[in-house]
Amino acid sequence: MFVDSHCHLDFPDLAEREETILAAMAQNRVGHALCVSVKMEDFPRVLALAERHPNLSASVGVHPDNDGVEEPDEARLLALADHPKVVAIGETGLDYYWQKDAPEWQRERFRTHIRAACQCGKPLIVHTRSAADDTLRLMREEGAGEAGGVMHCFTESREVAEAALDLGFYISFSGIVTFKNARELKAVAQYVPLDRLLIETDAPYLAPVPHRGKTNEPAWVVHVAEEIARLRNEPLERIESATTENFFRLFRHAQAH
Ligand SMILES: [Zn+2]
Ligand SMILES: [Zn+2]
Repeated sequence: MFVDSHCHLDFPDLAEREETILAAMAQNRVGHALCVSVKMEDFPRVLALAERHPNLSASVGVHPDNDGVEEPDEARLLALADHPKVVAIGETGLDYYWQKDAPEWQRERFRTHIRAACQCGKPLIVHTRSAADDTLRLMREEGAGEAGGVMHCFTESREVAEAALDLGFYISFSGIVTFKNARELKAVAQYVPLDRLLIETDAPYLAPVPHRGKTNEPAWVVHVAEEIARLRNEPLERIESATTENFFRLFRHAQAH
């Protein structure tokens, strides 16, 4: 079976098709998906999805792009993470692409999430865009390696991948790796050790080829695995089993069933 390590099934486009999406997952042998939280206000819906379906799990956190939303402190994150279906803290991190002035509140929020993850022993889901140096610096300063985690929807250089791997983190590839012009990223997908590789859709965004431009869904994570198998010249089954084992090793509170 395959696992989608990162999706947003609570977003309206997907939420209204919940049963169809779960059925398509089963058909493509996508046996598990992690529903990732982006703001406190939506967390109850993310958790409800994971409570309704044994093959979904949830995370808790606030995305760095979300300004003017509820700002959780460490205690609040810890309280919400203390639920058997919450397997990770995030998504969290830094995004200076959408917040070009690199605001201090993003870094403060990221630090709070790292501290909560270290405290509760659940791994981090890190989002980074146009902010790799600061992301790695904060991860080092706060000892993020203690909690571990994943660099989700990885689009950075090989050097950034290397630094994250050195901190003990996993690297997750999305549909971007199937895009023709993603040459540098394809090279990174060839380089990451097999036991640190994850796959994701980031649905509803970033649908992989051959569905590019459509509303993405977890069933299509198979296309990400196929492209990685092709790039690494390995059988698909090997990528399938490695990424699934990696997922349940990292997110050890997630239940395979
Ligand atoms: Zn993200
Ligand atoms: Zn996401």
